[in-house]
Amino acid sequence: MDFKLSEREELLRKTVREFAEREIAPRMEAMEETGEFPVDLLKKMGEIGILGVITPPEYGGVGLGNLARIIILEELGRVCPAIPMALQVHHMATHALSAFANEEQKRKYLPPLAKGETMGVVAVTEPSGGSDVAGMKTSARLEGDRYILNGRKCFITNAHASDIWVVIARTGEGGKGLSAFIVERGFPGAKLGRKENKVGLRGAITGELVFQNCEVPKANLLGHEGDGMNIAIRNIVETGRPGMASVALGILNAVLEQAVKFANERILYGKPISSLQMIQSHLADIYADLEISRLLVYRVGWMRDQNIRCDAESALAKQFSCEAAARSARKAIEIHGSYGILREYPVQRLLRDALVTIPAGGTAEVARLVMARQALSLVK
Ligand SMILES: Cc1cc2nc3c(=O)[nH]c(=O)nc-3n(C[C@H](O)[C@H](O)[C@H](O)COP(=O)(O)OP(=O)(O)OC[C@H]3O[C@@H](n4cnc5c(N)ncnc54)[C@H](O)[C@@H]3O)c2cc1C
Repeated sequence: MDFKLSEREELLRKTVREFAEREIAPRMEAMEETGEFPVDLLKKMGEIGILGVITPPEYGGVGLGNLARIIILEELGRVCPAIPMALQVHHMATHALSAFANEEQKRKYLPPLAKGETMGVVAVTEPSGGSDVAGMKTSARLEGDRYILNGRKCFITNAHASDIWVVIARTGEGGKGLSAFIVERGFPGAKLGRKENKVGLRGAITGELVFQNCEVPKANLLGHEGDGMNIAIRNIVETGRPGMASVALGILNAVLEQAVKFANERILYGKPISSLQMIQSHLADIYADLEISRLLVYRVGWMRDQNIRCDAESALAKQFSCEAAARSARKAIEIHGSYGILREYPVQRLLRDALVTIPAGGTAEVARLVMARQALSLVK
């Protein structure tokens, strides 16, 4: 087992860190105010290979793999967690296409997504309940050479900024009756619904996609009819949960930096509060949350790159790191005393961002169900 990153991975980290500080940090405030994703950044991120990191080179990506993706999301999250939130769902769309699309679909849709010419979404959740995927209601009815989609998807990341939608809809009964479709935003009957006003990750758009007799060519079925549940679950396990865990990891990096900086600068009783043991105890807890999360999340990246199935590990990394980010951000606020609740100090935003990571990509309770299943299988 090797815990050392390669020179290429270290260089990637440095490049992304510099990019984030140069291009994204100055836009933070505007994102907080407007809740808008800066779409012009997409092209720049495409140019440095961030968007196509898990897309194979033959389809316009750079194919660096899953651990590289995690490092990218972590570094972006350290500066502005909303950006990797948007990116991680964009990656989910590229993953769904790389893993399940036919050759023609890959050639058509993957290169523009990898280059930042289009933005992707994966739309599973519905108002009737995100955890109950098999209970979804959006329908797809085959009529001649097109499917007609009707229904509504909610909490969809990138919705109003996106072009290519990977949509799960019902073509039959129960969990086996779900299918996946590639929907272009311009297809007749494809509409945008409400845009949510979130407390955190404000620069990542969250909103509704609405299908009113939406016409999708039969050629845009992803995989086969009935593959929808498998596509949704593999996508969540292999990219969604590790992606959200990486966003939380980025937040934890920022939390530690802000907590240490403040503890060193704040003078009480004639010396920095970092010399107080109770403050050091908080810092130790934050450090532990960061290091444990990094180990869990990197392990999933490594397992994915070795093609090892990682359902329970992915759920554990997601649940632990997202809850750790919220827990540690709260501790960082306490270290700040009353300054922690002022908007000019980033720790309050980090707590808001961390809270939003917890349900996104599947709730902590549902992740625990996956972990419990694994635990029960270990002892016969
Ligand atoms: C910022 C953000 C971005 C998102 N982006 C996307 C996206 O891009 N695409 C997409 O499809 N979805 C997206 N989602 C939706 C997200 O995946 C769902 O919100 C999530 O799966 C929970 O669904 P729900 O909100 O309907 O809660 P519900 O499913 O209604 O759950 C309500 C409560 O019941 C609990 N619960 C449910 N089932 C069980 C069970 N079996 N045992 C115990 N407790 C249970 C839940 O944990 C939760 O506490 C996003 C959400 C957020 C917040």
